[in-house]
Amino acid sequence: MLASIAVRNATRRLCNPSKRYPSSSTRNVLPASGVLSDQDARKPYLLPALCIATTLALTSSAVCNSKKKPALAEGIVEEEGDEEESTRILNWSGTHSVELQPNTYHEPETINELKQLVSKAYQDGTHIRPVGSALSPNGLAFDSRGMVSLSNLDKIIDINKENMTVTVEAGARVSQVLDALRPHGLTLPNLASIAEQQIGGFVSVGAHGTGAAIPPCDEFVEELTIVTPSRHGAIKMTEESHGKLFKMARLGLGGLGILSEVTLKVIPAHNLVEQTIVMTRSEAKDKLSTLLKRHKHIRYMWIPYEDAVVVVTNDPENDLPLAMSAGTIVDDGNGGKKKIMTVEDIQPKHTKDEQFAPLRALLRKLLANKRDNSLDDETINGMGFGDLRDVILASGNMLDPDHIKRVNKAEREFWMKAQGVEIAPSDQKLQFDCGGQQWVYEVCFPVGTYGRPNHKSIDFVEELLEEIESSGLPAPSPIEQRWTSGSTSPLSPASVGPRPHESYDTKNALFSWVGVIMYLPSEDMDPTGYRREFITQSFKEQYCKLVRKVGEKYGIMCHWAKLEVSSEADAGVAESVHDHYGQEVVDAFNAARAMYDPKGVLSSPLIDKVFGSCPPSNE
Ligand SMILES: Cc1cc2nc3c(=O)[nH]c(=O)nc-3n(C[C@H](O)[C@H](O)[C@H](O)COP(=O)(O)OP(=O)(O)OC[C@H]3O[C@@H](n4cnc5c(N)ncnc54)[C@H](O)[C@@H]3O)c2cc1C
Repeated sequence: MLASIAVRNATRRLCNPSKRYPSSSTRNVLPASGVLSDQDARKPYLLPALCIATTLALTSSAVCNSKKKPALAEGIVEEEGDEEESTRILNWSGTHSVELQPNTYHEPETINELKQLVSKAYQDGTHIRPVGSALSPNGLAFDSRGMVSLSNLDKIIDINKENMTVTVEAGARVSQVLDALRPHGLTLPNLASIAEQQIGGFVSVGAHGTGAAIPPCDEFVEELTIVTPSRHGAIKMTEESHGKLFKMARLGLGGLGILSEVTLKVIPAHNLVEQTIVMTRSEAKDKLSTLLKRHKHIRYMWIPYEDAVVVVTNDPENDLPLAMSAGTIVDDGNGGKKKIMTVEDIQPKHTKDEQFAPLRALLRKLLANKRDNSLDDETINGMGFGDLRDVILASGNMLDPDHIKRVNKAEREFWMKAQGVEIAPSDQKLQFDCGGQQWVYEVCFPVGTYGRPNHKSIDFVEELLEEIESSGLPAPSPIEQRWTSGSTSPLSPASVGPRPHESYDTKNALFSWVGVIMYLPSEDMDPTGYRREFITQSFKEQYCKLVRKVGEKYGIMCHWAKLEVSSEADAGVAESVHDHYGQEVVDAFNAARAMYDPKGVLSSPLIDKVFGSCPPSNE
């Protein structure tokens, strides 16, 4: 019997611990710190009553496994059941799932148990694909033949202030590591927009944040232990001991072994001063080079069909020449300028209610048109930004360009009123609300150097927007653009390896990451699933194809967690990956697979499609 139970899933709601996006004060669903403790995070997480009406059916990343402890993601409901029950795992985005037969899904309690499992898999040739928090939008970790989760292996092993490193078991979540570092006055150098990844998954896909001089997160790995289903067993690796193999193993897509321990660089904990400004497209274009150099972290959120780019910058408060000090002139959030003199001056100009007014008004209008009175004022006023946008989108035809334009316009009005400056710890400011269930596609491409960024960041988005707007593609907001320096991991999309365009050193190389999105209605707003199907089709066959077409001349490479090779529409993607990395890198990865996974027990349909099935073993 398949144990697929309804779970009100927490993971998607944990996306926003930092409350980057203003949310209504009545919807305080997180601890005051804004960060969930380990204990909180493991509890089944019930959406606040206010939101249930709209998000009840948004079950996401969840594992339901009888007689098991909560596993991959939070919010998992334990269920007593038959030993023989199967396990079903759904990714966070609600776009991919996997079903595992009894005894093919494992959660070892100790590193020794993990080693025994892997050794047995090697002997028997049974599958044992590692999965982290199952956040990857493409279900990269999934393989129905057999999987292992390190959710029980989440110890913080050592915090070394002298070397500025933290060593953890690879099942520790990013948020747990941040919690453990905080009392020591330390933090991670950069984060993705969510902090619920396991460290194993975080580095294995080469997750990134933003900052022109900051590399993707795999580059922070100093040492790792990888348990391989081969005669080599568990191997401790550093750059010194294993050179390129170490760099291959840290961003190994779960294909070279199971990371059991990881040592990461840390930096001193610090507050970030965040400034949010809405610029016109031409302002955003003109100012980019300066902003990239001036700000430690910067991201652009382009709003399709609106001449508006939401520019969010973050700088350490102690690094004031880069950010702002008393006397600095900043935008006042109202089209004018103001001089910072006191803390009062950096508060946003508008109240939360004023900021939310355009979105709430649009939702009320859409509901009134449908004579739908299922959401009362209290419910609407209790919704945060992501929830509101989800419900507004789903209250109309999500593939109707006019509906999308209306929503994007309201979103622009929201951001105009949300302009201003805020200060908070970096681990809060670097995360942000990602919205609800969704399809995402994100590509990375070289855009010059830190010292000399070229015009490609802007050219790419301008061309994409032109195609979107001239064809009437129903593209919701935002098109998100971020920047990083390079990674020396050969499989990083921001690799500074041997390819011709990658001849800069890691720190100076500059890459832009552009992500597009189409949100999906929750199951209660789409009981038949037809709307989701049509949106999926439109996203893959129109939007992603368009991004690839525009991106062709920019040397784009897809984020590993967003690469889709599962349908006809994805045909050709695998070849483009080969072309991008080149035969040398593909051969090196396959040689490492042959050495560390000679029986192919770590592979998955996606890995096999891109790199070929189990390479010939040299054992
Ligand atoms: C809301 C949301 C926001 C996101 N924001 C960003 C962002 O800002 N930037 C960004 O880069 N990405 C982002 N992502 C993608 C996400 O960061 C990556 O997919 C993530 O790092 C995966 O971590 P995970 O623990 O969920 O791994 P999974 O998705 O479970 O697995 C990912 C890969 O890692 C492998 N793996 C997992 N654990 C191990 C291990 N112990 N040893 C070896 N291999 C292992 C798996 O086999 C698989 O290949 C976002 C995703 C979501 C849902």
